[in-house]
Amino acid sequence: MMMLTKKMIEIRSLLQTVGQSDTLTLPSIVVIGSQSSGKSSVLEAIVGHEFLPKGSNMVTRRPIELTLVNTPDAHSEYGEFPALGLGKITDFSQIQRTLTDLNLAVPARDCVSDDPIQLRIYSPNVPDLSLIDLPGYIQVTGRDQPLELKEKITELCDKYIQPPNVILAISAADVDLANSTALRASRKVDPRGERTIGVITKMDLVDPERGASLLNDKKYALRLGYVGVVCRVPPTVGTSKLFNRGNGNISNVIAKNENAYFSAHPAEFGSESHVDVGTKNLRKKLMYVLEQTMAASLKTTSEAISRELSETTYEFKVKYNDRPLSAESYLAESLDSFKHSFKGFTEHFGRNEVRELLKHELDQQVLNLLAQRYWNRPFEDLSQAPPEVDPLSELPKANMENPIWQIKLDSSQASLTKLGVGRLATSVVANALQAHVDRLISNSRFAAHPFARKAITEASTTILRDLSYDISDELEICIKPYKYRIELGDDEWARGRENVSNVLKDELRVCEAAAKNLETQIGGRKKLRDVMGFIDRVRSGKVVLEGDGVGGAGGFSSALLQKGREAVFLRDRVGVLKMRLLAVKSKQCASKQNKYFCPEIFLDAVADKLTTTADLFLEAELLSKFYYAFPRELDSRLGRGLSQTDVERFAREDPKIRRHLDVVRRKELLEYVLKEMEALRQLEVREKRYTSRS
Ligand code: GDP
Repeated sequence: MMMLTKKMIEIRSLLQTVGQSDTLTLPSIVVIGSQSSGKSSVLEAIVGHEFLPKGSNMVTRRPIELTLVNTPDAHSEYGEFPALGLGKITDFSQIQRTLTDLNLAVPARDCVSDDPIQLRIYSPNVPDLSLIDLPGYIQVTGRDQPLELKEKITELCDKYIQPPNVILAISAADVDLANSTALRASRKVDPRGERTIGVITKMDLVDPERGASLLNDKKYALRLGYVGVVCRVPPTVGTSKLFNRGNGNISNVIAKNENAYFSAHPAEFGSESHVDVGTKNLRKKLMYVLEQTMAASLKTTSEAISRELSETTYEFKVKYNDRPLSAESYLAESLDSFKHSFKGFTEHFGRNEVRELLKHELDQQVLNLLAQRYWNRPFEDLSQAPPEVDPLSELPKANMENPIWQIKLDSSQASLTKLGVGRLATSVVANALQAHVDRLISNSRFAAHPFARKAITEASTTILRDLSYDISDELEICIKPYKYRIELGDDEWARGRENVSNVLKDELRVCEAAAKNLETQIGGRKKLRDVMGFIDRVRSGKVVLEGDGVGGAGGFSSALLQKGREAVFLRDRVGVLKMRLLAVKSKQCASKQNKYFCPEIFLDAVADKLTTTADLFLEAELLSKFYYAFPRELDSRLGRGLSQTDVERFAREDPKIRRHLDVVRRKELLEYVLKEMEALRQLEVREKRYTSRS
């Protein structure tokens, strides 16, 4: 049949991907032998490459689980260390170096380790086999080898040569079989010689008659028999061109050399002699025996998997309520619910919300302008006014013939319309949208997924950035007319008057709160009054500061003086705000004819006009385009655009989901494996029936 081994090896690799390799104790061929018995040479003859660690200093310290996978249609040969994730290694000397490093990493005081190294070799030239190479038995404990080394090696080997494994006992022809450690060890666990294959190496080192008699040994009779081999690579071949042909595979070279030896002695090794010789025959035997052993262990292995499956099914039921889950479905659901919450957001964030944001932003700009041009004293441009008169308090009654008021208002209007409303408004709204998206992410399942978080954030920033670029410019063009001419209706004036009163009141509250806060910081009203009094006296020139006052002055520390200056500023600002509030409410400011007396109202009305243009434009251009593009971008970044690996990686970022997925996956895999094994068993039964009939 010769497919069972291949299937079972595949199944084992599958189970290893979910960390379930222990469930399936596949029978392997365990290779044991004394040091220098030729154990490595036999394994390398089977693989066709030199790949095992060499050297005098105990180079095999860990078991090597060697899986050979026949790839009939492939051209290349390569190895893989599944646990290391190094990928395909086509250079066998690199495999050799890696194995050497892994072995030497075992601390000398531990001597050996029972943690196996997994190595898979894929090649069209190898049979499907599962072999385990163990450290060679040592005869005499060397000077630099710890005393218990011998015992530890024996212990390790004893662990592996248990049933259902097949034992490949290597002995050299030039050593008396009675002294073969490998055969002695095998005899202990397999007294009737039922699952041991004897290999006699170095047949070329004894005379043919003696060699043949070893293979017919009756004292240590083995049901699976002995095979004699000559595994030495002829030294001249190693460097010749001939050897380099065929990707450096040495199987044929060894076989040729071997054949030359055995066919030179037909009486001892010819077909009449009934002895088994040659690495080719050894390979065949290994394949056959392993296949048989696999077949025999199908039932117990199936049962073990079945037990594991029922445990997993139970866990799935109890912990996860039989709730199915796949990485794809988890992602799809998460994405749907995120898009749903985004949809909800879009229904509540429209023109009105944009308007509020923009107006608030422009209100701040208006306040800054008013402070710069009207409120902050002294007025340099009114220096001709007598100092004891506060020019601002004179504003309502001011002489309008004085062009200064006209210039002030016109330049304020120009500053406001030319401050780059296009860019400012676009970025305020884009930033708000981004902040809302961030908040939606934080409240979604994606919060626990850095990968998705990044993808979503990138999706929105990219769209917003691309849109903002053109929108800023276009909006700037929309508001261009206002840079030249502003016509206000009576209703617009009235609205501005009402709105700016509120803005001023808000600002008043902010200033009063800040002043209060300073008072607490300084430590009481009295102390504050003292330091403010001092600053006032300095400002009016009644007190002259020595130096620059950096180290403090008038008995106040510099930090206290700084706070005092802030408090004075706030007090003045509060005074101005109160005065201007009264002015705005006064009869004079009720009419737009008096706009030069009431710059607050006028500028507010201008800001309102700008806002109206901007909110309409941004709703149409920024909001609706973003609302359309964003969910689609999410689909392409997190939906169709993701590879299977990315979807897995995403889902597994959340530990809870990862555990759930693992259970589902394990369950599915075990079910699949069990089905496969049932099919194999059916096949096996049919085959048996067929052979017994014929
Ligand atoms: P290990 O320590 O059991 O792995 O043994 P090796 O495979 O490293 O072989 C030990 C030595 O025996 C090496 O020098 C090999 O070249 C040599 N050797 C292995 N097999 C044969 C063989 O069939 N004939 C001869 N003449 N030498 C061999």
